[in-house]
Amino acid sequence: MLKDFERYPLTFGPTPIEKLDRLSTHLGGDVEIYAKREDCNSGLAFGGNKVRKLEYIVPDAIACGADTLVTIGGVQSNHTRQVAAVAAKIGMKCRLVQESWVPFQDAVYDRVGNILLSRVMGAEIELVDQGFDIGIRESWERALEDVTDRGGKPYAIPAGASTHRLGGLGFVGFAEELRAQEKELDFSFDYIVVCTVTGSTHAGMVVGFAQDGRAQNVIGIDASCTPEQTHAQVLDIAQKTADLIDPSIVISAKDIVLKTEYAYPIYGVPSDETNDAIRLCARLEGMLTDPVYEGKSMQGMIDLVRKGFFERGSKVLYAHLGGVPAINGYSYIYRNG
Ligand SMILES: *Cc1c(COP(=O)(O)O)cnc(C)c1O
Repeated sequence: MLKDFERYPLTFGPTPIEKLDRLSTHLGGDVEIYAKREDCNSGLAFGGNKVRKLEYIVPDAIACGADTLVTIGGVQSNHTRQVAAVAAKIGMKCRLVQESWVPFQDAVYDRVGNILLSRVMGAEIELVDQGFDIGIRESWERALEDVTDRGGKPYAIPAGASTHRLGGLGFVGFAEELRAQEKELDFSFDYIVVCTVTGSTHAGMVVGFAQDGRAQNVIGIDASCTPEQTHAQVLDIAQKTADLIDPSIVISAKDIVLKTEYAYPIYGVPSDETNDAIRLCARLEGMLTDPVYEGKSMQGMIDLVRKGFFERGSKVLYAHLGGVPAINGYSYIYRNG
């Protein structure tokens, strides 16, 4: 589906699929749980889902003659860290706007984890006192103008690389890659669980899995806590991505399955149940998840298994999208484990 689009390789190749035997058994053994390890997809500053998306965006940035990647996220954004790494790798500068999306007061929140890594990689960082919003931000537009005013050539990457024209392609590629892996494994997955916030990861998967009738088997777990806006954005990105690659693929609202009951209390702050899920998975599998994104999708998947949402015998694939560096910003929560 993607042969007409240029890809700049930034990842190691197809990501590994790992069976989570001990977690499956712990949850009763009726469902087989696997993880596809996007968190191990690249050597660029710990990798993650944004690197997969950026593989389809970088060729455009290079073709535009840009010299600076400009993007936006929260203070502990994984996305901005991945853009900083990619900029370093391709020899561009990086300008990051990091907003106060998360009301979390750990003493070192703006010193450790993702933001530390971005600083070490040489990104120019501006901290802005603005709350959470997955839409287009004025602070980001100002940063773009500022780069131009100083004689640079900015390339604009929106939050999560999601509303970028090419932002959905990476995870269409995920679906194609999984189909090839399923041939090797000689079975296919019944469900794919994914954490959803800015939307192009989920949207790309929906378009990719629509090819084999599994669009609605992609179970998005909302971590934005603004679920209507997120659902609408996933649908919009999925429809635009489908139009771009193959207008015969029709995506409608019912194809976007979004579970909205796990994002509480708010974006970026874990509930007690999220922390329980993080600890359970870490202690049974040695697989770490973070308090902003993957801990919430892990919590959602565990709860759905316990509730019997997945039929007995189902094979469930948890897409692990990365994000563990952010856990350093939450040191107080985990001071005793
Ligand atoms: C960005 C991110 C997500 C959400 O992906 P979207 O494409 O923004 O919906 C989930 N998990 C991690 C670790 C992320 O960094």
